[in-house]
Amino acid sequence: MARSILHIDLDAFFVAVEQARRPELRGLPVIVGGDPDGRGVVATASYEARRFGVYSGLALRTARRLAPDAIFLRGDFAEYVRVSKQFHAILANYTPLIESGGLDEAYLDLTGCESIGGTAPEAAASMRARIRAELGLAASAGIATSRLVAKVASDKAKPDGVLQVAEGTEAAFLAPLPLRALPMLGQSTEKRLAPLGISTLGQLAALADSALEGLFGNHGRVLGQRARGIDPTPIGHDVRAKSISREGTFAADVADPEHLRAVLRGFSESVGADLRRDGRRARTVSLKLRYDDFSTVSRSLTLPQPLSSNEAIFEAGTALLEKLRERDKRPARLIGIGVSNLVADAVQLSLEPAPERKQESLSAAFDRVRRKYGTRSLQTGRTAFDAATQDERSVFEKGTGLSSQMK
Ligand SMILES: [Mg+2]
Repeated sequence: MARSILHIDLDAFFVAVEQARRPELRGLPVIVGGDPDGRGVVATASYEARRFGVYSGLALRTARRLAPDAIFLRGDFAEYVRVSKQFHAILANYTPLIESGGLDEAYLDLTGCESIGGTAPEAAASMRARIRAELGLAASAGIATSRLVAKVASDKAKPDGVLQVAEGTEAAFLAPLPLRALPMLGQSTEKRLAPLGISTLGQLAALADSALEGLFGNHGRVLGQRARGIDPTPIGHDVRAKSISREGTFAADVADPEHLRAVLRGFSESVGADLRRDGRRARTVSLKLRYDDFSTVSRSLTLPQPLSSNEAIFEAGTALLEKLRERDKRPARLIGIGVSNLVADAVQLSLEPAPERKQESLSAAFDRVRRKYGTRSLQTGRTAFDAATQDERSVFEKGTGLSSQMK
């Protein structure tokens, strides 16, 4: 039986949240990102601003030049996270098989869920109506037999539309689209196909497997299948990073436990911020230590509940550090902390214990202030961050004698 996959994506999410609570902004070119004279980039532009050529990732200064009359907002990440949770909570009424694709998008496997929300188009209509009524937001949806085609369809349906690609018509639907319409098809693939005169998915799909393998090795066959709209990846199979970690090598080996803990706290905050930005929680925290003789040990701790607060990550890391140091107190050459076993944030909301909820709202406030005023603006008492220096990397290099490596 063909699967029934739905991809739903909120339109111009950050801007739409601002317009929902400030109706005077509706219909205007609005750009969320920050100070237009600063060094930041556009996070989201309203469709009115997009008409001036403004898009996500564009330098704010350029956006200002293209759309001088646009309204520039700094953004309110905590509010976006709050609305995102409501969005995911609505989706959870339609199927247990949901995979969050970020704050503003998700994949739902609706196969066999007719008794819950009706056919896929009926379910799509119902959830879009609820999202509009309860959140004041427009969502676009794509329905297809695979997550890949559903995603492309929701992109094509924007803004505020629904597009269903019927079983058997996937290849024909994709054929006229440019290569970059295919999720995860990068510039390097595009560049290798250009000399062959291949610029559409139909042209790519027409290549024989042998030719694809010659060009792209083992990956070639899968690429050809994807261009034909074939993607067996199940919903719930997370294609994003499976872990988030930070580690750093000290310029001079460190034995002082306070110093190690301070560095660990800094890394925990940084890992936690990434985790929350992704809308995810971690079940496992790992600590890594390397000694002066380059021997390396790592230990992991599986948490009773998936967590995302800075404090929870730091506490688990500290417990692991103490355990390791009970056995071996030699100075450390490198220390690192990571989280893995990641789950979508929305799944656990009702299960988390109250103290963690409090820590998470603290962490969210932390993220908001740092986002607004920079990484250095807020520090807990014991971080290794040095207020005088500019960014995390240089802090770890200059401030604590660490060279930090982001993974
Ligand atoms: Mg979106």
